[in-house]
Amino acid sequence: MRRIGKHISIAGGLVRALERTRDLGCSSLQFFSRNPRGWATSPLSEEDAEAFRETRAALDIDPVVIHTNYLVNLAAPDPFIRQRSIEAFHDELDRAERLGADYLVVHPGSSRGASVEDGIAACVDGIRVAARGLRLDQAAVLIENTAGQGDCIGRAFEQVGEIISRCERDVPIGMCLDTAHTFAAGYPLQTESGFRRTMGTIDECVGHEKVRVIHFNDSKVPFGSNVDRHWHIGLGEIGTEALRRVARFRKLAHAPIILETPEDGDRTETWNLNQLRAMLGVVELPEPTLEQARPASRGRTAARRPARR
Ligand SMILES: [Zn+2]
Ligand SMILES: [Zn+2]
Repeated sequence: MRRIGKHISIAGGLVRALERTRDLGCSSLQFFSRNPRGWATSPLSEEDAEAFRETRAALDIDPVVIHTNYLVNLAAPDPFIRQRSIEAFHDELDRAERLGADYLVVHPGSSRGASVEDGIAACVDGIRVAARGLRLDQAAVLIENTAGQGDCIGRAFEQVGEIISRCERDVPIGMCLDTAHTFAAGYPLQTESGFRRTMGTIDECVGHEKVRVIHFNDSKVPFGSNVDRHWHIGLGEIGTEALRRVARFRKLAHAPIILETPEDGDRTETWNLNQLRAMLGVVELPEPTLEQARPASRGRTAARRPARR
């Protein structure tokens, strides 16, 4: 059966995140292994790492995905930010390996006024330097495509493919495909023909087999807006039909599907997971209530956790 999961908070500890994953009926999870918006971090003890690995094996949670801290900007031209980012990414890779995680997802970063070419070169170099001295037997880096906000690189699959091909001799690496970012970056997932073209472009630039994880999110913002705002499955601008095409696309059926949707009111984690399960044909859903079917544009904005991932 298709592996599905959710981005889970590690409040209460790493083992608790695994238990919550099981309680949600999921077989995979993603989490931040350190504070997502700060540089400060407390070291991971071997005891905690071992407890995580053992519980994960006992609960058969696979894959385990870690999302890199948002401050890490491997494409930054500023030498100070760049150095800090490389050190933090090295630490993330080390933690991922010690936890037995399968993937470490990272955004390629922002070139902050420098050219896209320079941003890509800095990102490639940053990943290779950060991985130096580490034995990565388990964890692979996944480059996530982005919405293309500001000077963020990774909005075009060509850019993601270039980063991967320039790193793959030195570092185990693949891609994480985010549906909301793809749509906001201007790839027309909302139509059948646009979907086919987009999947074709991914295959040409990266290769379907290198897409190791799908971040499955609807978008609160319109097509091509270059803004990164995730929304409830089926209630955003991408919509149910288009998301169903992604979920059921045979050539990406090897990739686990992970939700990074917000939670509010009765649109809970389970509600969103059930929308995905219905698309995969695993559950049948009752008709949505009016409250649940409220469109994105009139929805409440307060999500319990920022939906930018
Ligand atoms: Zn994502
Ligand atoms: Zn992300």
